[in-house]
Amino acid sequence: MKKQIYLRVIIGLLLIAGLVFAYASVFSEPEEPVITSTQKTRFMMDTAVEIRAIGIDSAEAVDQAFAEIGRIEQLFSRHLSDSEISSINNQAGNWVTVSPEVIQLIETSLEYCKLSDGAFDITLGNLIELWDFGANENYIPNATEIEAVLIGVDYNKVSIDKERNAIKIPSGSMIDLGGIAKGYAVDRSRNVLRDAGIEHAMIFGGGDIATIGTKGDGSPWRVGIQDPRESTQLLGIIPLINNTIVTSGDYERFFIKDGVRFHHILDPHTGYPARDVISVTIVADFAADGDALSTAVFVLGRKAGLELVESLAGFEAVIVDDEGEIWVSSGLKNIIVLL
Ligand code: ADP
Ligand code: MG
Repeated sequence: MKKQIYLRVIIGLLLIAGLVFAYASVFSEPEEPVITSTQKTRFMMDTAVEIRAIGIDSAEAVDQAFAEIGRIEQLFSRHLSDSEISSINNQAGNWVTVSPEVIQLIETSLEYCKLSDGAFDITLGNLIELWDFGANENYIPNATEIEAVLIGVDYNKVSIDKERNAIKIPSGSMIDLGGIAKGYAVDRSRNVLRDAGIEHAMIFGGGDIATIGTKGDGSPWRVGIQDPRESTQLLGIIPLINNTIVTSGDYERFFIKDGVRFHHILDPHTGYPARDVISVTIVADFAADGDALSTAVFVLGRKAGLELVESLAGFEAVIVDDEGEIWVSSGLKNIIVLL
């Protein structure tokens, strides 16, 4: 008898506990999503890439953004033997089928080649290879060597078959997307952050920066422009909301021999480093465009470069010429804070 009473009491208690639990799970508030701030740096694309993001699950979003940069580097790097760009270069003279994404970025690049009348030219791979700025050899090629590789530098000779996603470059040519791919990678990683719901972010990829929204407190991201000759000093500050800023400078990859600076932005018409300016910063909606344009304007020089920027809608520039004078495009004059 006693046993039965105990059993009933226990069953009764269990029922009450179950009801309380069910009530609690139905009527309790759903868990609030937690907004976090994440800042991470990784060495990618031959540079330190830093991503700052504020939002729900920001750490995961940042990891996905880095993964996207890795994917793009794997497609576009001339230095990776199994990239699609290497496959085009290894089969110069033949049609090569590649991803639609590769065709698309090459087509965008070719637009900047045309727009700059060849100041930007993605077929200068062999020239870049000849100078080999990464190798620390401080090697200055002679005129004969330069002439020989310049024969293969002509963006007009790149053929694209969009139907088949195929591309052909002449034998003796090599393409190099080093002047645009970093910007593209930064744009794509920004898309990944946006898709993950991130509303405030900044991606720094060497000289290429893209932003989402404001800093989080409502104020714009503020990007400093480095003094090209004094790495710890800033020349000015530009506020950014949802846009990008890209700088090409002669201080990124260079060597100095007998007092002369040799750097990695080459004039495809002469085969030698471009000399008229020392730094070009472009503000644009997309970093890929800003990246190509900053390299193009660097080669065109202060006058033709500034004219090109003024003729395009949606682009602004800050140019530092070889005498240290600063040139600011008309739309940026009231926005930039010069220091
Ligand atoms: P960084 O890579 O330092 O950010 P840039 O965006 O100016 O600087 O790109 C320089 C790279 O672009 C070079 O390393 C080379 O791969 C490529 N390049 C150099 N000169 C030219 C040019 N005239 N046209 C197209 N690409 C260029
Ligand atoms: Mg560039």
